[in-house]
Amino acid sequence: MTEKFTGNFTQQEPIPDAGIAAALAVLQSGRLHRYNVAAGELGETALLEQEFAAYTGAKYCLAVASGGYAMATALRAIGVKPGEPVLTNAFTLAPVPGAIASVGAKPVFVGVTESLTIDLDDLAQKVTDAKVLMLSHMRGHLCDMDRLMKICDDAGVTVIEDCAHTMGASWKGVPSGRAGLIGCYSNQTYKHMNSGEGGFLITDDEEVAARATILSGSYMLYERHLAAPSPEVFERVKYDTPNVSGRMDNLRAAILRPQLRDLDTQVQRWNDRYRVLEDGLRNTPGLTVINRPEQEVYVGSSIQFLLLDWDPDKVQEALSRCAARGVELKWFGGAEPVAFTSRYDSWRYADSVPMPKTDRILAGIVDMRVPLTFSLDDCALIARIVRAEVGAVWQGA
Ligand SMILES: *Cc1c(COP(=O)(O)O)cnc(C)c1O
Repeated sequence: MTEKFTGNFTQQEPIPDAGIAAALAVLQSGRLHRYNVAAGELGETALLEQEFAAYTGAKYCLAVASGGYAMATALRAIGVKPGEPVLTNAFTLAPVPGAIASVGAKPVFVGVTESLTIDLDDLAQKVTDAKVLMLSHMRGHLCDMDRLMKICDDAGVTVIEDCAHTMGASWKGVPSGRAGLIGCYSNQTYKHMNSGEGGFLITDDEEVAARATILSGSYMLYERHLAAPSPEVFERVKYDTPNVSGRMDNLRAAILRPQLRDLDTQVQRWNDRYRVLEDGLRNTPGLTVINRPEQEVYVGSSIQFLLLDWDPDKVQEALSRCAARGVELKWFGGAEPVAFTSRYDSWRYADSVPMPKTDRILAGIVDMRVPLTFSLDDCALIARIVRAEVGAVWQGA
């Protein structure tokens, strides 16, 4: 009998009961706007910011409407100008070059290695072309952060980290988002905490934090924040920083606070699933598993492997055969952007120079979500299916 998987790759877990109860309390209060607080009340959003700052060890945290908004706000807060080049990963998703384009700046793509991290040799070449790097920890793969920071510090390049896939991850014990000047996170449904939409911006820089807060639309009510710099810092920046509304609201914050308390447990659960998948895929002929460096604590909320130098028709055939058995895989090598995958040269608003070494890797990347609704047995079954179907196509069966 041929085994089939019947689970749903986009089904997340329910919101924890504590989050539902807190959300109902906010609804009953009617005070959904973050600055609409009763006398003496701190507000769910301000508390969430304080808790996320403590979780990451950052001095300041701002909760916002989305991860993409956090990234665009980071760029605005450091004064990126229209037409300015901003370095970023060739292997990433559309909101990243989109955030750069949203401030009128120009993405300059840096290549990807077989470890699925930013190509630091390529970065070292291009680092003189820009003053800012928007570093996307795409699919949770952390590069050698010490070497990256040395390259950027030596060149005077400011690093903003896109941690949409690394909330809860770290490099040599430093939480992802804490090496660069600013870390940006997403709380969108498919990330590590789920409020539908939402995001965070963290930094130790008081002026960046103050500007970001005013940008997010604080109506000068910044004294109601619990993870913001002192009022004097706001005094310095408030007259020349526009309001580009993108606040978080108390309803989403209420949903997120219990999830933050559970985050480290969830990370363990993701990684248990990841390891079952990884073990099951190892030594499949034609398939390259991505080995994770030991300095990295990752969050296995998705898994990638390479079908390196395969004929594109064969990749498509392997994916179709897996799909027929219920296993949904995404391919970065496809010519057109499909669903969430896309290639640097499909963003036609951004000029790009062909990168043959990167194209070779992208053409081989296969990607799969790992929602926590999958059991360990589900993961073992998925790995058996991929192994059988990839193996069969590879061997020409
Ligand atoms: C989801 C995502 C973002 C942006 O998050 P939103 O909250 O959807 O705006 C940024 N970068 C990457 C790599 C993402 O996957």
